[in-house]
Amino acid sequence: MIRQLWYNYRSADQALETRNTTRRVQVKREEEIMKLLTFKIEGKERVGILSEDEKTVFGTDHSDMNELICSGASPQKTGEEFALEDVELAAPIPRPRQDVICLGINYAAHAKESARYKKESFEKNREYTIYFSKRVNEAVAPGGYVLAHDDIEKKLDYEVELAVIIGKEAKNVAAADAEEYIFGYTILNDMSARDLQTNHKQWYLGKSLDGFTPMGPWIVTKDEISWPPALAIKSWINDEPRQDGNTNMLMRDIGDIIEELSKGITLLPGTIIATGTPAGVGMGFEPPKFISKGDKITCEIEGIGVLENIVK
Ligand code: MG
Repeated sequence: MIRQLWYNYRSADQALETRNTTRRVQVKREEEIMKLLTFKIEGKERVGILSEDEKTVFGTDHSDMNELICSGASPQKTGEEFALEDVELAAPIPRPRQDVICLGINYAAHAKESARYKKESFEKNREYTIYFSKRVNEAVAPGGYVLAHDDIEKKLDYEVELAVIIGKEAKNVAAADAEEYIFGYTILNDMSARDLQTNHKQWYLGKSLDGFTPMGPWIVTKDEISWPPALAIKSWINDEPRQDGNTNMLMRDIGDIIEELSKGITLLPGTIIATGTPAGVGMGFEPPKFISKGDKITCEIEGIGVLENIVK
């Protein structure tokens, strides 16, 4: 009898729990914003929500992704619907509010290839993270042209990276709490002119040329990505496989990056952090395989999408 009562109690408890879970799931589904993009229609930029099947773009009442991120609001659908294939995509954040914060040498295998190229000794256990910044006046849209600047550089290279977008002001954030401050993730190709990067000692110029930052195809909100992100990250040049890693191979992971940066810098909403690139960049091959006009660069991150660009 006692056993039976206990069983009934457990069943009722479980049923209640199941109902609550179902309700939570339903609420999450309704409110969920999975993929957010910036698109152009009739010459105007708009922020859209991508349908789960990635075929339809729902219009929202926001015209600017930075404004949406800074507002802290959930975008409201306007009722307009567009076929994805009919809209022109822009980079999800076409004009970052500030220079992009980048990490150098944040995958061990890339550290090794980079040291070999620069004829430096390879430090397996680097004590300090390498941070640098990248000017992005206008990010290159998915399908848009990366610009070669062959009058000033001859060693054009690509770097597929997971970009983290900060969603709310972050100051003194512990690594364990870092996810709370993230808005979402996208793919960023940290195009690099290796000769400028090396010759000028600081990387700023070689990383910041116009048309050097393809981004997209959209932002995936953080709730759609496991924490910490463990996503396959790959690139191809003209369909030839080049980079093949996983974001769980970061030497300094995202929580630690946000903790370290936010100890000294207040990270504002809309801040973009490019977390470094895995091995397989052009300078990593012997001899190096730099790219040039006409080459197609394909970057892919599991759970986010594909970012493809042509060098012009
Ligand atoms: Mg990079």
